[in-house]
Amino acid sequence: MATVALILLLSLYPSESGRNKTVYYIFAGIQVAIFIFSRVLIGNKRMRSAGCLFGMALFSMNLVIFSAYACFVDQGLYIARFLLFFLSLEVIFMFGAVFNLVFNVLVVGLFSASLLLVERFFGIRLRQDQFFDILNVVAACTIMMTLNWYISHVFIKGLLVARLLQEERNRYHEESIHDQLTGLNNRRSFEQSVNFFTSVCRQVHQSVCVVMMDVDFFKNYNDYYGHQKGDEVLKAVGKVLRQLGEENHVYAARVGGEEFIVLWTENRIAEAQRVALKLRQMIVDLQIRHEMSAAAPYLTASYGLYMMRGGSEDSPEDLYAAADSALYKAKEAGRNCIVLHDSANGSYTVVDADHPETLLDR
Ligand code: GH3
Ligand code: MG
Ligand code: MG
Repeated sequence: MATVALILLLSLYPSESGRNKTVYYIFAGIQVAIFIFSRVLIGNKRMRSAGCLFGMALFSMNLVIFSAYACFVDQGLYIARFLLFFLSLEVIFMFGAVFNLVFNVLVVGLFSASLLLVERFFGIRLRQDQFFDILNVVAACTIMMTLNWYISHVFIKGLLVARLLQEERNRYHEESIHDQLTGLNNRRSFEQSVNFFTSVCRQVHQSVCVVMMDVDFFKNYNDYYGHQKGDEVLKAVGKVLRQLGEENHVYAARVGGEEFIVLWTENRIAEAQRVALKLRQMIVDLQIRHEMSAAAPYLTASYGLYMMRGGSEDSPEDLYAAADSALYKAKEAGRNCIVLHDSANGSYTVVDADHPETLLDR
């Protein structure tokens, strides 16, 4: 915005020689750089006061140059006028509209007074057309004042409000799809994702794999170690699932108190089993003591694995129900294990890296 205003102002400026014009452009470049720098600082919450100081330093520097030119250089009045435009520009974003108004009036007054003083004390006579310069400056400042008011009151505020609303919306969206305790996706997010997953995979003939996981004897854990410790366990489990998600490109969500779901696409059954076994191992590796578990002296979970083949007509609800029934079988089979539910023949099989697969029933 400032740069556009600058170009407009420069094109208005009547240069008398090419050399002068180059000087003005160099000036303009330096000023724009300092201006942008102070704007960037002001944009940063912690650097705001440094940015304002920078802006004020720029303003003071201009005032000195302006006075020097106005007093000692005959042609300086033109440069002074140019700098004056700039002074107005610099404060556009820095202060409120009322300040800008007062500031502009002050600058116009200062400029007029300095012209009179220069004539009186240094004997530099104003040419006839320099009187029109003053009028010119007054007109320019009036335009700048209006522009300042528009930018600071209408434009910037509009932008700020739009940005705040957007941030609010983003935060609300983030909170609405994430679980606060574990930072994982929540049930709502899972419901959206599973619909998307199943419909896309169906179209491209890819299989959808799902693992439903439930922590074993977690009620006992809470009763024995306390709810606070229980929460810490859930956070640790959440961390494991996030890690699995990053390493294996799977989607993980917390869908209930101590129930979690992992979703991904994989056509090879052996590979799907490998991911489920890895998850089970990662939970065991946490080695969280659990005296009240009948499954192991440490924290474990049970897992239901289901693979929905590409082209299957299963709905997301069917997928969920199939994985849930596999989880139920895993609980029945003694917990701390994975049960694979095969959609082709409806069988349930215990998946274990150390033992041969065990067919449970159909
Ligand atoms: P099973 O091996 O059959 O799954 O036994 P379980 O005790 O894990 O199952 P149950 O469904 O009886 O208990 C689940 C417990 O999870 C009950 C509840 O106290 C606990 N729980 C649910 N949500 C939270 C939570 O956010 N924080 C804590 N600390 N505990 C929770
Ligand atoms: Mg449960
Ligand atoms: Mg449980």
